[in-house]
Amino acid sequence: MKTILSACALLISISLLTSCSTFNTYKVAVLPPSWLNLIQIDKDIYVEKGMGEALQKKLIVQAEESKKYVIEVWGEIKSNPTIYACATKKCADSLGLKAPAHCVDSYLILRPKAFTKFYISHETSHSEVIKRSGSILKWKKIPEWFDEGLAVVVAPNPSHNAKAWEKIIKEQVPHPSKKELMSIHSVRAWNKATKKYNENLDYNSIVVTYATAGHYVGEWYSKAGKSGLLQLFDKIKNGYSFEKAYKEAIETI
Ligand SMILES: [Zn+2]
Repeated sequence: MKTILSACALLISISLLTSCSTFNTYKVAVLPPSWLNLIQIDKDIYVEKGMGEALQKKLIVQAEESKKYVIEVWGEIKSNPTIYACATKKCADSLGLKAPAHCVDSYLILRPKAFTKFYISHETSHSEVIKRSGSILKWKKIPEWFDEGLAVVVAPNPSHNAKAWEKIIKEQVPHPSKKELMSIHSVRAWNKATKKYNENLDYNSIVVTYATAGHYVGEWYSKAGKSGLLQLFDKIKNGYSFEKAYKEAIETI
Protein backbone atom coordinates (compact mmCIF):
# COMPACT_ATOMS: atom_id res chain seq x y z
CA MET A 1 0.00 0.00 0.00
CA LYS A 2 2.79 2.37 0.95
CA THR A 3 4.46 1.60 -2.37
CA ILE A 4 1.25 2.33 -4.26
CA LEU A 5 0.70 5.57 -2.38
CA SER A 6 4.23 6.81 -3.01
CA ALA A 7 3.98 5.72 -6.64
CA CYS A 8 0.76 7.73 -6.94
CA ALA A 9 2.42 10.79 -5.43
CA LEU A 10 5.32 10.48 -7.85
CA LEU A 11 2.90 9.97 -10.72
CA ILE A 12 1.02 13.13 -9.86
CA SER A 13 4.21 15.16 -9.55
CA ILE A 14 5.56 13.83 -12.84
CA SER A 15 2.29 14.55 -14.62
CA LEU A 16 2.29 18.09 -13.27
CA LEU A 17 5.87 18.69 -14.30
CA THR A 18 6.13 17.10 -17.72
CA SER A 19 4.48 16.89 -21.09
CA CYS A 20 2.29 13.96 -22.02
CA SER A 21 4.96 12.20 -24.09
CA THR A 22 7.53 12.58 -21.32
CA PHE A 23 5.01 11.20 -18.88
CA ASN A 24 4.44 8.19 -21.17
CA THR A 25 8.20 7.60 -21.20
CA TYR A 26 8.63 7.73 -17.43
CA LYS A 27 5.45 6.03 -16.30
CA VAL A 28 7.23 2.64 -16.54
CA ALA A 29 9.14 3.62 -13.42
CA VAL A 30 6.04 4.31 -11.35
CA LEU A 31 3.21 2.10 -12.55
CA PRO A 32 3.01 -1.66 -11.95
CA PRO A 33 3.41 -3.73 -15.14
CA SER A 34 -0.20 -4.96 -15.02
CA TRP A 35 -1.39 -1.32 -15.38
CA LEU A 36 0.66 -1.13 -18.57
CA ASN A 37 -0.98 -4.25 -20.08
CA LEU A 38 2.22 -6.27 -19.53
CA ILE A 39 2.56 -9.83 -18.25
CA GLN A 40 5.63 -11.52 -16.79
CA ILE A 41 7.16 -14.33 -18.89
CA ASP A 42 10.54 -14.71 -17.18
CA LYS A 43 12.53 -13.23 -14.31
CA ASP A 44 12.83 -9.50 -15.18
CA ILE A 45 11.01 -9.85 -18.53
CA TYR A 46 7.49 -8.54 -19.11
CA VAL A 47 5.71 -8.50 -22.48
CA GLU A 48 2.57 -6.99 -23.92
CA LYS A 49 -0.44 -9.21 -23.30
CA GLY A 50 -1.15 -11.29 -26.42
CA MET A 51 2.46 -11.37 -27.75
CA GLY A 52 3.04 -14.55 -29.82
CA GLU A 53 5.00 -17.42 -28.34
CA ALA A 54 7.78 -17.38 -30.98
CA LEU A 55 8.49 -13.71 -30.27
CA GLN A 56 8.51 -14.35 -26.52
CA LYS A 57 11.01 -17.20 -26.93
CA LYS A 58 13.25 -15.07 -29.15
CA LEU A 59 13.25 -12.31 -26.53
CA ILE A 60 14.17 -14.66 -23.67
CA VAL A 61 17.06 -16.23 -25.64
CA GLN A 62 18.44 -12.90 -26.90
CA ALA A 63 18.17 -11.26 -23.46
CA GLU A 64 20.24 -14.07 -21.99
CA GLU A 65 22.82 -13.86 -24.79
CA SER A 66 23.08 -10.08 -24.40
CA LYS A 67 24.52 -10.42 -20.88
CA LYS A 68 27.94 -11.69 -21.99
CA TYR A 69 28.53 -8.53 -24.05
CA VAL A 70 27.81 -6.32 -21.04
CA ILE A 71 29.94 -8.43 -18.68
CA GLU A 72 32.83 -8.41 -21.16
CA VAL A 73 33.13 -4.62 -20.86
CA TRP A 74 31.67 -3.82 -17.42
CA GLY A 75 32.77 -6.94 -15.51
CA GLU A 76 29.30 -7.49 -14.05
CA ILE A 77 25.75 -6.22 -14.44
CA LYS A 78 24.83 -4.13 -11.42
CA SER A 79 21.71 -2.42 -12.76
CA ASN A 80 19.84 -5.70 -13.39
CA PRO A 81 17.37 -4.00 -15.72
CA THR A 82 13.79 -5.13 -16.20
CA ILE A 83 12.65 -5.59 -19.80
CA TYR A 84 9.24 -4.28 -20.89
CA ALA A 85 8.62 -5.51 -24.44
CA CYS A 86 5.90 -4.44 -26.86
CA ALA A 87 4.52 -6.39 -29.81
CA THR A 88 2.35 -3.61 -31.25
CA LYS A 89 2.74 0.05 -32.15
CA LYS A 90 -0.09 0.89 -29.78
CA CYS A 91 1.92 -0.49 -26.86
CA ALA A 92 5.13 1.28 -28.01
CA ASP A 93 3.23 4.58 -28.32
CA SER A 94 1.68 4.16 -24.89
CA LEU A 95 5.19 3.79 -23.38
CA GLY A 96 6.61 6.76 -25.31
CA LEU A 97 8.89 4.50 -27.37
CA LYS A 98 9.91 6.19 -30.62
CA ALA A 99 13.13 4.29 -31.43
CA PRO A 100 13.33 0.46 -31.52
CA ALA A 101 14.51 0.59 -27.89
CA HIS A 102 15.20 2.96 -25.04
CA CYS A 103 16.30 2.84 -21.44
CA VAL A 104 14.50 4.52 -18.55
CA ASP A 105 16.63 4.11 -15.42
CA SER A 106 16.59 0.33 -14.85
CA TYR A 107 13.87 -0.41 -17.41
CA LEU A 108 14.60 -1.38 -21.01
CA ILE A 109 11.65 -0.70 -23.30
CA LEU A 110 11.76 -2.66 -26.54
CA ARG A 111 9.78 -3.28 -29.70
CA PRO A 112 10.30 -6.47 -31.78
CA LYS A 113 13.06 -4.97 -33.97
CA ALA A 114 15.13 -4.66 -30.78
CA PHE A 115 14.69 -8.26 -29.61
CA THR A 116 18.36 -8.91 -30.37
CA LYS A 117 21.43 -9.38 -28.18
CA PHE A 118 22.95 -6.21 -29.64
CA TYR A 119 20.02 -3.90 -28.91
CA ILE A 120 19.50 -5.39 -25.44
CA SER A 121 23.18 -5.20 -24.44
CA HIS A 122 23.39 -1.62 -25.79
CA GLU A 123 20.45 -0.52 -23.63
CA THR A 124 21.79 -2.46 -20.63
CA SER A 125 25.02 -0.45 -20.91
CA HIS A 126 22.94 2.77 -20.63
CA SER A 127 21.30 1.33 -17.52
CA GLU A 128 24.75 0.54 -16.06
CA VAL A 129 25.91 4.12 -16.70
CA ILE A 130 22.92 5.43 -14.71
CA LYS A 131 23.43 2.94 -11.88
CA ARG A 132 27.21 3.40 -11.61
CA SER A 133 26.97 7.19 -11.65
CA GLY A 134 25.35 6.96 -8.21
CA SER A 135 22.69 9.66 -8.69
CA ILE A 136 20.72 11.37 -11.41
CA LEU A 137 22.69 14.60 -10.88
CA LYS A 138 26.01 12.81 -11.34
CA TRP A 139 24.65 10.84 -14.29
CA LYS A 140 23.84 14.18 -15.92
CA LYS A 141 27.60 14.87 -15.98
CA ILE A 142 28.17 12.00 -18.43
CA PRO A 143 28.15 13.38 -21.98
CA GLU A 144 25.96 11.66 -24.53
CA TRP A 145 28.88 10.88 -26.87
CA PHE A 146 30.53 8.79 -24.12
CA ASP A 147 27.33 7.06 -23.00
CA GLU A 148 26.48 6.10 -26.61
CA GLY A 149 30.09 5.29 -27.54
CA LEU A 150 30.40 2.96 -24.57
CA ALA A 151 27.12 1.24 -25.51
CA VAL A 152 28.61 0.70 -28.99
CA VAL A 153 31.78 -0.79 -27.46
CA VAL A 154 29.53 -3.17 -25.47
CA ALA A 155 27.28 -4.09 -28.42
CA PRO A 156 29.04 -4.36 -31.80
CA ASN A 157 25.87 -3.87 -33.83
CA PRO A 158 26.74 -4.03 -37.59
CA SER A 159 25.30 -0.56 -38.18
CA HIS A 160 28.02 1.03 -36.04
CA ASN A 161 30.74 -1.53 -35.19
CA ALA A 162 34.43 -1.42 -36.16
CA LYS A 163 33.62 -2.55 -39.73
CA ALA A 164 31.14 0.31 -40.11
CA TRP A 165 33.88 2.72 -38.94
CA GLU A 166 36.31 1.24 -41.50
CA LYS A 167 33.76 1.86 -44.22
CA ILE A 168 33.33 5.48 -43.07
CA ILE A 169 37.09 6.05 -43.32
CA LYS A 170 37.56 4.12 -46.57
CA GLU A 171 34.69 5.81 -48.37
CA GLN A 172 35.37 9.18 -46.76
CA VAL A 173 31.87 9.43 -45.37
CA PRO A 174 31.49 12.79 -43.55
CA HIS A 175 31.70 12.25 -39.81
CA PRO A 176 32.32 14.42 -36.74
CA SER A 177 35.93 15.12 -35.78
CA LYS A 178 37.04 13.90 -32.35
CA LYS A 179 36.78 17.47 -31.07
CA GLU A 180 33.28 17.96 -32.48
CA LEU A 181 32.15 14.59 -31.15
CA MET A 182 33.41 15.42 -27.68
CA SER A 183 31.45 18.66 -27.65
CA ILE A 184 28.14 16.76 -27.93
CA HIS A 185 26.83 16.69 -24.39
CA SER A 186 23.05 16.67 -24.38
CA VAL A 187 20.65 14.11 -25.84
CA ARG A 188 19.16 16.86 -27.97
CA ALA A 189 22.57 17.79 -29.46
CA TRP A 190 23.31 14.11 -30.03
CA ASN A 191 20.03 13.54 -31.91
CA LYS A 192 20.66 16.66 -33.99
CA ALA A 193 24.17 15.47 -34.98
CA THR A 194 22.91 11.96 -35.73
CA LYS A 195 20.28 13.39 -38.06
CA LYS A 196 22.77 15.75 -39.71
CA TYR A 197 25.41 13.12 -40.51
CA ASN A 198 22.94 10.55 -41.82
CA GLU A 199 20.74 12.97 -43.74
CA ASN A 200 22.54 12.84 -47.09
CA LEU A 201 23.83 9.31 -46.85
CA ASP A 202 22.80 6.99 -49.69
CA TYR A 203 22.61 4.05 -47.38
CA ASN A 204 21.17 3.86 -43.91
CA SER A 205 22.99 0.68 -42.91
CA ILE A 206 25.52 2.81 -40.98
CA VAL A 207 24.71 5.31 -38.26
CA VAL A 208 27.66 7.70 -38.46
CA THR A 209 27.64 9.34 -35.01
CA TYR A 210 27.33 5.99 -33.24
CA ALA A 211 30.17 4.45 -35.27
CA THR A 212 32.36 7.50 -34.59
CA ALA A 213 31.63 7.54 -30.85
CA GLY A 214 32.18 3.78 -30.68
CA HIS A 215 35.56 4.18 -32.36
CA TYR A 216 36.87 6.87 -30.00
CA VAL A 217 35.46 5.37 -26.81
CA GLY A 218 36.81 1.99 -28.00
CA GLU A 219 40.26 3.52 -28.37
CA TRP A 220 40.02 4.89 -24.81
CA TYR A 221 38.68 1.60 -23.44
CA SER A 222 41.50 -0.38 -25.06
CA LYS A 223 43.88 1.62 -22.85
CA ALA A 224 41.70 2.06 -19.74
CA GLY A 225 40.15 -1.43 -19.65
CA LYS A 226 37.61 -2.49 -17.04
CA SER A 227 39.63 -1.03 -14.17
CA GLY A 228 39.87 2.36 -15.88
CA LEU A 229 36.14 2.32 -16.59
CA LEU A 230 35.31 1.54 -12.97
CA GLN A 231 37.79 4.16 -11.81
CA LEU A 232 36.08 6.74 -14.02
CA PHE A 233 32.71 6.07 -12.37
CA ASP A 234 34.23 6.08 -8.88
CA LYS A 235 35.62 9.53 -9.62
CA ILE A 236 32.29 10.76 -11.01
CA LYS A 237 30.65 9.53 -7.79
CA ASN A 238 33.28 11.44 -5.81
CA GLY A 239 32.45 14.69 -7.53
CA TYR A 240 35.06 14.83 -10.33
CA SER A 241 34.10 16.42 -13.62
CA PHE A 242 33.68 13.89 -16.42
CA GLU A 243 36.54 15.41 -18.43
CA LYS A 244 39.01 15.08 -15.54
CA ALA A 245 37.94 11.53 -14.67
CA TYR A 246 38.08 10.47 -18.35
CA LYS A 247 41.59 11.84 -18.79
CA GLU A 248 42.94 10.45 -15.51
CA ALA A 249 41.57 6.95 -16.17
CA ILE A 250 44.19 6.44 -18.87
CA GLU A 251 46.97 8.47 -17.26
CA THR A 252 47.19 6.28 -14.19
CA ILE A 253 47.22 2.92 -16.03
ZN1 LIG B 1 22.02 4.25 -27.05
